Amino acid sequence: MKFNKLTDYHLEGKAVMVRLDLNVPLKDGRILDESRIQAALPTLEYLLEKKARLAIMSHLGRPKGKADPALSLAPVGERLAELLGREVVLVRDYEEEPADQVFKQLGKNQIMLLENLRFHAAETANDPDFASHLIKGFDLYVNDAFGAAHRAHASVVAAPQLLPEAKRTPGFLMEKEIAALSLVRDQAKAPFVVVIGGAKVADKIGVILNLINSCNDLLIGGAMAYTFLRYLGVEVGASRVESDKMDLVEAIYRNAKARKVTIHLPCDHIAATAFEPNAAPLSVAGESLPSGLMGLDIGPKTLAAYQALIRSAATVFWNGPLGVFEWDAFAAGSLGIAQAMAESKAYTVVGGGESVAALHKAGAGARIDHISTGGGASLEFLEGVTLPGLKALELES
Ligand code: ADP
Ligand code: MG
Repeated sequence: MKFNKLTDYHLEGKAVMVRLDLNVPLKDGRILDESRIQAALPTLEYLLEKKARLAIMSHLGRPKGKADPALSLAPVGERLAELLGREVVLVRDYEEEPADQVFKQLGKNQIMLLENLRFHAAETANDPDFASHLIKGFDLYVNDAFGAAHRAHASVVAAPQLLPEAKRTPGFLMEKEIAALSLVRDQAKAPFVVVIGGAKVADKIGVILNLINSCNDLLIGGAMAYTFLRYLGVEVGASRVESDKMDLVEAIYRNAKARKVTIHLPCDHIAATAFEPNAAPLSVAGESLPSGLMGLDIGPKTLAAYQALIRSAATVFWNGPLGVFEWDAFAAGSLGIAQAMAESKAYTVVGGGESVAALHKAGAGARIDHISTGGGASLEFLEGVTLPGLKALELES
């Protein structure tokens, strides 16, 4: 895929509309985690340094097409103002009047922030009239919202499609995500180790089937592992098993065999009698679990084996926690994987909301080569799906 480059533009005095993913978790108007705001800063700071005039738009949460004060971007705007040292003006009524009408009236040092795009049903409907209200009159459209690139929404697809090629470009975060994920998907150096955990087989099947084409070892953990073990006829006690997904597991084994990929499953567990935060952790040696026990984390022997594979890998991709890492007694597996990745000389990439949280809990974030900001978007990218938001930015020739 070929794209324009933000660094190729002359930006002084230009009106630039930037689509960001500022979808941060909020509680009572407080930002719980500002990583997505931080990830947007390089592009914003560059635009300001080059003296562009800045307008920003984003979604937040799922307000279902109508205004919801709890999902206002106001707290995000305040934080942006602090971080950028500029006044940020929140604009609400851009559905009635094109956004550039208000923009023209702002001072040249004021930044315009459009209120939550998803307050308007036209956004998720990919409505071209709404899209035109968003970007009409702007000199340049920059899309840095990798986390929204898998959505065919107005601000992501219809808007850039209304513009000539020269007026739309990815931002720096988007470029970085594409480069890192392309490396994993298309050019991973062997030994290539893929670690997949998390709750559901169905969520990960696409990624697994695509990465099986190029990886050497597939390390399975999390609740998913129990569906795999069950498929092999192993007793898994009260562990979470998706018995209707055995055909998917079968497809994975069939493809792995054809591609000579080794699938690794837990050979010991940390289990409990109930799915509860204060459940007592019980160590279970061996791959099977007695009845009444559910596996909530991989055991120490499994962790050591997985860590050894990660240490000797050249490329590692990780998505999905290996246990219920939110509860300390069942976090060792996920934190240990994070630690091994941080110590590995391999090119390391982590994607997925909970996996990234586990990585930070382990304090390992700084030593990972790329932490994807896009949960669903990064998985779809690695599945080999053409993301609509990227297609809308792509250059024809
Ligand atoms: P990501 O957001 O990184 O893609 P997922 O959404 O697939 O990850 O899954 C994360 C969830 O899976 C976590 O909240 C974790 O508690 C849960 N999980 C992991 N292992 C188990 C297990 N053995 N049993 C039940 N839930 C699990
Ligand atoms: Mg998740």
